[in-house]
Amino acid sequence: MNLTNYHSHTSFCDGRAPMEDFVKEAIRQGFTSYGISSHAPLPFPTHWTMKKEDVESYLEEFRSLKNEYQGRIELYIGLEIDYLDEYSNPSIEYFRNLPLDYRIGSVHLLKDDKGEIVDVDCSKEVFKERLDNHFHSDVKATVLAYFSKLMSMAELGGFDIVGHADKIAYNASFCQPNVSEQSWYKQAQRDLFAFISEKGYMMEVNTKAYHKLGVFYPDTTCFSLIKEMHIPVLVNSDSHYPELVNDGRIEALQALKTAGINMVMELIAGKWQENPILV
Ligand SMILES: [Zn+2]
Ligand SMILES: [Zn+2]
Repeated sequence: MNLTNYHSHTSFCDGRAPMEDFVKEAIRQGFTSYGISSHAPLPFPTHWTMKKEDVESYLEEFRSLKNEYQGRIELYIGLEIDYLDEYSNPSIEYFRNLPLDYRIGSVHLLKDDKGEIVDVDCSKEVFKERLDNHFHSDVKATVLAYFSKLMSMAELGGFDIVGHADKIAYNASFCQPNVSEQSWYKQAQRDLFAFISEKGYMMEVNTKAYHKLGVFYPDTTCFSLIKEMHIPVLVNSDSHYPELVNDGRIEALQALKTAGINMVMELIAGKWQENPILV
């Protein structure tokens, strides 16, 4: 029944419960496979990323849970790694050398023209404030800067899954209605998806905000692109709370089927495999 999730935070980052609580809830709900992916360390401290000195305990805690729950669920360890700039991103040696099962590459941060780092992965109201204060209220330039970071990330590699591609669409649409209908937007989106396809990455359909905001990341309007470009896709809940491990999963799988996509990627016995959507 495609009961899998590979995007899950824990109290090592901004997740609201210990790793084991997510594992227990996944087992309780009948998941066959579950992956942990806390926010990887950045070169500076934040309230939402793991500290570099905690990475070893993160891996150690996972190893002990994997042993403890062996035979009841397949457990995998990953990280959600930010593309910040050319010095801190999924492709650098430090991340490549970690013993991980998979890596999610995501963009949450942009730099303004003074070089100040700005988190654009926030509520739409806060996004509008930051757009005004850091990016001259220029929706187009900011959105294009976001797409450009994703392109650089895809170019450099070091990850398996593109995290919440196109997430900026929701916030940008609040500042400029129907922005994603603009031809420049559609072109940037098409170029990104084509490059992701060419490079052979998987793309997640992230369901974290579905019940709150009514959108997936990327949303259903992008599903025809995913299909056209044959991008391998999987559904992830990006859960920060154990009770949300399964949130929006069925809805996303159904929406994919409606768009004519009938297969999703699942990690089975350590290998990514294409499996039919069974909802
Ligand atoms: Zn993220
Ligand atoms: Zn996440």
